[in-house]
Amino acid sequence: MNTDSTSFPSLWKSLFGMYCPKCRKGKLFQPIQWGRPSSFFEMRKNCENCSQSFEPEPGFYFGAMFISYALNTVLFIAVWVAYSTLVEEFSILELLLLIGMSALLLLPVFFRLSRSIWITIFVPFQGKNQSANS
Ligand SMILES: [Zn+2]
Repeated sequence: MNTDSTSFPSLWKSLFGMYCPKCRKGKLFQPIQWGRPSSFFEMRKNCENCSQSFEPEPGFYFGAMFISYALNTVLFIAVWVAYSTLVEEFSILELLLLIGMSALLLLPVFFRLSRSIWITIFVPFQGKNQSANS
């Protein structure tokens, strides 16, 4: 392994920490303001570190819906398995309520995570090249 690889966050840390995929240093999203729930969904326009655009083209994040769909499917299955192993008397209404509540609670997380995954697919990491030039 290259020694300077330690100075950059790993791909997973960048994905789940929601960092710029190009430099892995700038944040993708605005800081969360707890008094203003819409702040959960506010993305920065550009990277504060490398000025990579976070919306390379209009409708760029349309495809992130499919990532979100996959994440929700995993959540539904996880809740279903957990519920059916932990609860003796199976109630479809309770299960649906649990799934609905957990999906609602995780909506901001899945929104951010699916966008982070989506932009990381299309914008390659160039951090190491930048450090070599400077
Ligand atoms: Zn950046």
